[in-house]
Amino acid sequence: MSKSDSQKSEGLYIVVSAPSGTGKTSILRKVLRMCPNLLFSVSYTTRPRRPGEEDGKDYYFITEKAFKDKLDEGEFAEWEENYGHLYGTSLKTMKELLHSVRKGFDLILDVDWRGAKKLKKNYPGGVFVFILPPSTRELERRLRGRGVESKEDIDKRLAKALDEIKGIVWYDYIIFNDHLETAIDTLRSIYVAEKSKRERLASKIKEFIAL
Ligand code: ADP
Ligand code: 5GP
Repeated sequence: MSKSDSQKSEGLYIVVSAPSGTGKTSILRKVLRMCPNLLFSVSYTTRPRRPGEEDGKDYYFITEKAFKDKLDEGEFAEWEENYGHLYGTSLKTMKELLHSVRKGFDLILDVDWRGAKKLKKNYPGGVFVFILPPSTRELERRLRGRGVESKEDIDKRLAKALDEIKGIVWYDYIIFNDHLETAIDTLRSIYVAEKSKRERLASKIKEFIAL
């Protein structure tokens, strides 16, 4: 996909980033259920599957060797290492989904801020949303409450989360995940508002003007 492809498309891609434990998964799952035209870009990762996660739905869980082979083949739109594991956005998935975008589908991606920055540079026209916890204390409570990682892993995620928050100034929108339902509604509202932007409706407007 060239830069001009994504610029021309009236479809939309939304990148959502958040420090681990903020509630991004909870928010995304609900918004995806509410917005059937919004498709999730399933990333590849070498991290082990957590209870409740499904291969091919939450992530494609692959070995480090398989990840590196894909990397050599240029199969990622972007990739990063997080907490000792590799995460990558499939170039093919992104291309396919952005093609469907023209048939009425939009794309939502869960990518860290470094990956988000690369996407912003290479695929203009995206919408970038950062989710923040109400406080650093609450972030720690949620990370520990999730109870799926070791204490050492949680400490790593907490330190990284606080570091990540410093790099958010260029995002288009910030959502505080204080009340989950409000945060879900805010993300859905951002999507609806972005879909209503005049420049994204150019071809529909043309139909009226041509009359
Ligand atoms: P992430 O995907 O950002 O790592 P999760 O969605 O897994 O975060 O949420 C981390 C934990 O915080 C989960 O136990 C989840 O139920 C809880 N959580 C999410 N949002 C809220 C909220 N607004 N208030 C209280 N707890 C929340
Ligand atoms: P988790 O292990 O909690 O699912 O995700 C850890 C971090 O990796 C999160 O910040 C998440 O946004 C990020 N992440 C997930 N998929 C990708 C991806 O494809 N690319 C990049 N750069 N980050 C990703």
